[in-house]
Amino acid sequence: MDWEHANISNDFNPGLTEPEAPDQSYHIVISDGEVLCIDGQYPWRPLTGDEFQWCGLDAVSSHYLGDLSGTPIYAVEVDPDADEPSGYGFQSLWSFLTSVEQPVFYLIGRAKQVIEWHQHHNFCGACGQVTSTTPVDRSRKCESCNIAFYPRLSPSIIVLIHKGDEILLAKNAHARGNFYSTLAGFVEPGESIEETVHREVFEEVGLKVRNLRYYNSQSWPFPNSLMLGFHAEYDSGELVLQEEEIADAQWFHYNDLPHKPAMMSISGWLIDDFIKRMD
Ligand SMILES: [Zn+2]
Repeated sequence: MDWEHANISNDFNPGLTEPEAPDQSYHIVISDGEVLCIDGQYPWRPLTGDEFQWCGLDAVSSHYLGDLSGTPIYAVEVDPDADEPSGYGFQSLWSFLTSVEQPVFYLIGRAKQVIEWHQHHNFCGACGQVTSTTPVDRSRKCESCNIAFYPRLSPSIIVLIHKGDEILLAKNAHARGNFYSTLAGFVEPGESIEETVHREVFEEVGLKVRNLRYYNSQSWPFPNSLMLGFHAEYDSGELVLQEEEIADAQWFHYNDLPHKPAMMSISGWLIDDFIKRMD
């Protein structure tokens, strides 16, 4: 199927078994975490098999991701020192957040994470032996330790806390850019995601919350988070900021919000969802 006519969220089927002798193929080419783009091609699309062959880049590894209505799609890792071929350029994953449709962004994020999984698990972390790919799932296996290494995913919660018609937004001490966002944090071993919400909120801003409501989730490939979004109601406490993590946190009326996060992010969706419900 032609990329231009595809509906990626409907037509992409993730899989492990490559179709035999397909007419066409697509290649998402990644070098050192950056994605190859065809100059002047907007919106972005992956390279066809012919384009990849003729652009002169050598694949370090290639991973079948699935098919687009029968056309296979590969994540291709190339040498980080390789020069950009004439007519092409590498761009960071961040630049795709606002330049492609969301399902395309997720597909590119999938390609990047599969390549990173392969790079990081070529050798067993316990005994150092070379691992091998298994045919049944996306894992690298150490035969001598009998350990399987899957792509690493880091589940994280993200929560919009509301109090009447105000919401709590915070400026992260390490964030890129000067904007206020919802609170977020990684799930720890042994925790339910609801427990993570309560712990993170208390650690970061010193508040107790109640009436958690699961909202939505988002794959966030910077580098491998799975964001689980919640709404929560303020229960009690005064703002006490965890200085290493939070530069500032304030209650804002939903009609008078500061510079918000990108609408491609679940933080933006949570804020928008709250505003819609208040209106
Ligand atoms: Zn081992």
